[in-house]
Amino acid sequence: MAQKYVYFFGGDKTEGNAKMKMLLGGKGANLAEMANLGIPVPPGFTITTEVCKYFYEHGETYPPELKEQVNDALKRVEEIMGKKFGDPSNPLLVSVRSGAPISMPGMMDTVLNLGLNDETVRGLAEKTGDERFAYDCYRRFVAMYGDVVLGLKPVGKDDVDPFEQVLEELKHRKGITYDNELDPESLKELVTLYKKLIKDRLGIDFPDDPEEQLWGAIGAVFKSWNNPRAIAYRELNDIPDDMGTAVNVQAMVFGNMGPDSATGVAFTRNPATGENVLYGEYLINAQGEDVVAGIRTPQPINKAQKTDPDSVSLEEAMPEVYEELERIRKLLDRHYRDMQDVEFTIERGKLWMLQTRSGKRTAFAALRIAVEMVEEGILTEEEAVMRVEPQQLTQLLRPTFDLKSKEKALADGAFLAKGLNAGPGAATGRVVFNAPDAEEWASRGEQVILVRMETSPEDIRGMHAAQGILTSRGGMTSHAALVARQMGKVCVVGCGALEIDYKKRQFTVNGRIVREGDWISLDGTTGEVFEGKIPTQPSEIVRVVVDKSLKPEESIVYRNYAKLMEWADRYRRLGVRTNADKPDQASVAIAFGAEGIGLCRTEHMFFEGRRIDTVREMILADDQEGREKALAKLLPMQKEDFKGIFRVMKGLPVTIRTLDPPLHEFLPADEKTAAELASSMGVPFEKLWAKIEALHEANPMLGHRGCRLGIVYPEITAMQVRAIFEAACEVQKEGIPVKPEIMIPLVGHVKELENQKKVIDEVACQVFQEQGVHVVYSVGTMIEVPRGAITADEIAKEAEFFSFGTNDLTQTVYGISRDDAGKFLHHYLEKEIWEYDPFERIDRDGVGQLMKIGVEKGRSTRADLKIGICGEHGGEPTSVEFCHQIGLDYVSCSPYRVPVARLAAAQAAIKERLKA
Ligand code: ADP
Ligand code: MG
Ligand code: MG
Repeated sequence: MAQKYVYFFGGDKTEGNAKMKMLLGGKGANLAEMANLGIPVPPGFTITTEVCKYFYEHGETYPPELKEQVNDALKRVEEIMGKKFGDPSNPLLVSVRSGAPISMPGMMDTVLNLGLNDETVRGLAEKTGDERFAYDCYRRFVAMYGDVVLGLKPVGKDDVDPFEQVLEELKHRKGITYDNELDPESLKELVTLYKKLIKDRLGIDFPDDPEEQLWGAIGAVFKSWNNPRAIAYRELNDIPDDMGTAVNVQAMVFGNMGPDSATGVAFTRNPATGENVLYGEYLINAQGEDVVAGIRTPQPINKAQKTDPDSVSLEEAMPEVYEELERIRKLLDRHYRDMQDVEFTIERGKLWMLQTRSGKRTAFAALRIAVEMVEEGILTEEEAVMRVEPQQLTQLLRPTFDLKSKEKALADGAFLAKGLNAGPGAATGRVVFNAPDAEEWASRGEQVILVRMETSPEDIRGMHAAQGILTSRGGMTSHAALVARQMGKVCVVGCGALEIDYKKRQFTVNGRIVREGDWISLDGTTGEVFEGKIPTQPSEIVRVVVDKSLKPEESIVYRNYAKLMEWADRYRRLGVRTNADKPDQASVAIAFGAEGIGLCRTEHMFFEGRRIDTVREMILADDQEGREKALAKLLPMQKEDFKGIFRVMKGLPVTIRTLDPPLHEFLPADEKTAAELASSMGVPFEKLWAKIEALHEANPMLGHRGCRLGIVYPEITAMQVRAIFEAACEVQKEGIPVKPEIMIPLVGHVKELENQKKVIDEVACQVFQEQGVHVVYSVGTMIEVPRGAITADEIAKEAEFFSFGTNDLTQTVYGISRDDAGKFLHHYLEKEIWEYDPFERIDRDGVGQLMKIGVEKGRSTRADLKIGICGEHGGEPTSVEFCHQIGLDYVSCSPYRVPVARLAAAQAAIKERLKA
């Protein structure tokens, strides 16, 4: 038997179905599926993707059997429609539509009304009694065919569409605004003008023979598979080149047959909010793409959707058709078990469906649809958990711009520049250029945006005070981006178009000057920066969970979020902790579902208030005695911090890391601040400055930092753990359980850990004796240098837990300083040397392999070794999945990422189960 290249759909003889996307393309498979469901679909047939493959393998020719199969299918269409293709008295018209297995912009557009010529158009006019309609179809066909099949297109991006130009000239000459005002004579004239245009520009006669038209269009679809735009799109999206496209040939139905005809697009649920209502637009007496082309203002589908009282909804204009569409909406939504995006046409009061596919949606809609489909019995909880992208959840937590206002701002030319979208959400405020100003202005009740070339630990309080942060340098893992994510701040980084002048307190962008105090707005979700003030609204979830300013029952978004999270928690195996340095951050994280602190960075506490001076005093001391004097002043402060954290955590594990950064980070970098410090410490400036210079390191990232500090200055470790244990004992005495875990950074040799553990155990012993209580604690290490992972079996003999510090591990595995990577990272991505930024996603083949070794070796000597991750990767979905796969116990991430990690962890577990 000959191979089957053509699949029929419509009537009662449909041959395909939704599962055959690879063979029939998405459009064809779904047209067949709708026909199978008894939904009115104009009959037609699909030429398979196999023909496309054949076409390219055989010098752009067709399989010999194809012609007969097409003719047979066409005959069936003619029988059902009671018309004949090319018949001058009763012509069948068809559309020729491309349709690959994966929806692909850049391929051939659709040709409508194919089969018309000077004879058949008269037949159509007589048969329908509507000359205007017949010639409207004809002029549309000639323009479309001329454009997509014959290739008469605008040249260059400034050129106007040639057919459009002819149309505009004619409309101008006749003094009319809208296409549908063209009378039959004008339409006839248009056809002549179009054909002449084609002859003049391309030197060919427009084909009159319907058969020739049909094969011309089919060939054009197959050829468009390999046009440069389509190839580029496939490359970008990893779509195989040999997949091929299908071609759909389908009987035309006409939405342009007068006031009882129309065409439209709709969603089976609201794609912005997810509400379970029909949502869409339609246009009376129109065809095909008129609705989206903006030829006339489309009208809303239902009454509830109306914003303009003068508009007429389909519900009002054609109540019976609306009822039918509503019935089909429910049917499709339930059948496909997902929100659908549909195209329809109404011909003289009869509804026809022309396309269905899964619709694109916002994060809000994705969440609501997933949850409600469970409640409606359409999806299982597990499926719902898989339906929402973890990354999308961050969208739900951020304040957002009021959409209309943002559109208006864009239209008003307020757009300034675009940077990297480091912290999603919307922020608006007045520009300040340094952290102290940010704090001061904010304390006066001003909303500010902190604009810096880049930020440093000293800017933290200013960053906290600001609504948003904008930097001209740095990448997605720069200090600004990292801190902003931890704080849940809106942040745009690496906005290179900004020229910042700190002295003049202004920045320039493309010649426009923005001064201190001017209002700007940041869209951290897109990375856009605008001049002026765009109104924002806070996230409802944050208002319920964090601010407690909204009751849970008053927010649909919160209710859906809570449901989805509850289900996610049911399926996940990984624990989720947070990186938090302060009680308020910790309590936010707990509100988002964190089950402990995976990383408390003690050095962040050193920047509070005047503490930094005491820290500097400690660093600059000449001897141990001097250091201990300063440390004694720090002790009560750190202790209070830890008490605050233990109280909030109520017995949940708290992993506290001992001092990690190189000491020079705490020192003044300029002579003026140094002079102030010298006088407040009562030491000569020269002496202090010499000390600062002595601490300078050529390569601080690999310098005197991490456990190397505690090994050289054991008194620092001793002070820190004393603060931890005193705090723990005192809080425990208050009746609140505590669970401290002390973590030593940057360990590469087991003896480093041994050394520090000794200090810790000694201090613990002393404190417990003094306090008369005992606290259960554990000591572990970060694995963040390759040697640590490679000798994990040795290290695990001393460590009760591991936490992968994947920021440093990535730096040391790659031998790249993250702070300097900005200079070349984007080149690596552009040249596709890297597929993604390894500081954002775990590099499974490199860093990931070391992690695996660390896990296996670690557990080989300590079977119950608890292992987590506390690098930035802990809140990134693909990295979370990897952590699940290699058997970690938990991930730890910034507070606002906790929901993302919970969902990603659940998806990893479900995927694993589905595979098994
Ligand atoms: P795209 O893939 O770009 O959406 P389509 O093939 O869906 O292209 O067609 C473009 C427009 O033409 C759509 O509005 C569609 O509904 C309309 N259309 C396609 N085929 C027919 C037909 N047989 N009858 C009426 N309208 C049609
Ligand atoms: Mg379409
Ligand atoms: Mg580190």
